[in-house]
Amino acid sequence: MPKISAKWRDFGTSIFSIMTQKAIASGAVNLAQGFPDFDGPTVIKDAAIAAIKAGRNQYAPAPGVPELRQLLAQRKAEQSQRTYDWHSEVTIFSGASEAIFCALQALFDPGDEILAFEPYFDSYPAAAHSSGARIVGIPLDPPSFTFTRSSLEQAVTKRTRALLLNSPHNPTGRAFNQVELEILRDFVLAHDLLVITDEVYEELVYSPAKHQSIADLPDMAERSIVISSTAKTFSFTGWKVGYAFAPKELTAALRAVHQFTVFCSATPLQYGMIAALELGPEYFSELRQDYRLRRDLLLTELRASGFRAEAPEGTYFIVADYSDLSTVDDLKFASQLTEQHKVAAIPISVFYTDQQLAARRYRYVRFAFCKNQATIAEAGSRLRRIREP
Ligand code: PMP
Repeated sequence: MPKISAKWRDFGTSIFSIMTQKAIASGAVNLAQGFPDFDGPTVIKDAAIAAIKAGRNQYAPAPGVPELRQLLAQRKAEQSQRTYDWHSEVTIFSGASEAIFCALQALFDPGDEILAFEPYFDSYPAAAHSSGARIVGIPLDPPSFTFTRSSLEQAVTKRTRALLLNSPHNPTGRAFNQVELEILRDFVLAHDLLVITDEVYEELVYSPAKHQSIADLPDMAERSIVISSTAKTFSFTGWKVGYAFAPKELTAALRAVHQFTVFCSATPLQYGMIAALELGPEYFSELRQDYRLRRDLLLTELRASGFRAEAPEGTYFIVADYSDLSTVDDLKFASQLTEQHKVAAIPISVFYTDQQLAARRYRYVRFAFCKNQATIAEAGSRLRRIREP
């Protein structure tokens, strides 16, 4: 009789896999899972293929291919106050997911509490749980999805060790502003917390909003692990090349876990990402421009179909209020949307600690717009039929 670890029994298949399977089974347009339905730049693919052909197919150094770490350190130095030593403070992971997992394994002990805004990315509680720690949610209340100092204070206990921040934020699309980040900074310093900052959508922020890293505020870098990924920035989510910047001591702790988790991230794909980091600034401005068009198109379609939604400041997600269309809970609504109307979206209650309470309280689903305009337009024409008798 197979015995399943009690620790992992409560973690089933992720909502993203479930909704993607449902989308395939129903022939639905998949705006549920956040992966582009287009490829990133050819020059990146060619560089990875060339690396494979040149025999770069064995283990990379565990912290990552040196040239890639050097380029990442160089790019970070152009954007931020703190410079990171590529040798001892920059590490390549198999996606931001692995970096988050290693950070939570490396830093926390059973009973520790980690604060995170909810709704939150669903890997956070799983990663915390496997180190015996737990995520304590701080609500970002709709429709503004912001917070107050007192909502932060209410969540603190003797066991609170860290803030796990995600900005730009999945699923709400918030890019936290200077005032909000200053509140977080004061709070973190007052309680002597570590900061893990997940910035995987850093390049997908739409003006006038700007991406700002909490680690760039005074006294923050020394207590922060800054995590990002090439997945969204270069439209290769399947390559799973992520990275983290952290002071030497914290980096050593992350690497201790990383070397026994995957040891190293896929070597030729790291070489591919060297070509990605050599792309000029026009790549990034075009990326944002394209995404802004997709965002605005989806927003128009959602509003025309009877959803209430605001333009997100960042990411490639829109959370849409469907309360003018239906009174059922979000799990049911997302299923109906997929099976009857053939557009898949994610119910947002799954991103809360108390999912049942969230399902009673909120009427939101998340749509991804990392799709060709034709895909979004097709989803739009299906969504417009929801209100037809
Ligand atoms: N953090 C957030 C907030 C995300 O949305 C995602 C991807 N959906 C990740 C981390 C994981 O990134 P990666 O694919 O690089 O592991």
